[in-house]
Amino acid sequence: MSTKQCPYCGSRIALNAVICPVCNQPVMGAPNNSFQGGGYIPNQPSNYAPPPPPVQQTYSAPVSSGQFSGINFFNEPKARVNKVTYLIINFLLGWIGIHKFLTGKPIMGILYLLLSWTFIPGICSLIDLFAAIQLRANANGDIYV
Ligand SMILES: [Zn+2]
Repeated sequence: MSTKQCPYCGSRIALNAVICPVCNQPVMGAPNNSFQGGGYIPNQPSNYAPPPPPVQQTYSAPVSSGQFSGINFFNEPKARVNKVTYLIINFLLGWIGIHKFLTGKPIMGILYLLLSWTFIPGICSLIDLFAAIQLRANANGDIYV
């Protein structure tokens, strides 16, 4: 049985043992020889760096790309509005153009209002509704319509 003596704790351990199973000291080489090194570096400084913290998204402007956001024949300026509020008003009062007044489009609003005896503003406000639904709200829940 080929064993050797651990130079650190004196235990009989396997000859091919690299680390003493009793005291966990490196035991490469013959007994009583000083450790020659070879891979095991105690207290090796850690190169591990913690990952950077996630970037906080503080900028939360609404998505204002050229995305279609509703019928706007006269290119009246877009306004920021809470998406849920806008959808409710659009759904309930869109047929008389209230959602247009709400977002600063009085010309479109008056047009809807004047035509509210027809089916046209109803159809148009439905288009506005679906246009607004597919707009992605920002962190505050706002959209740009
Ligand atoms: Zn030992």
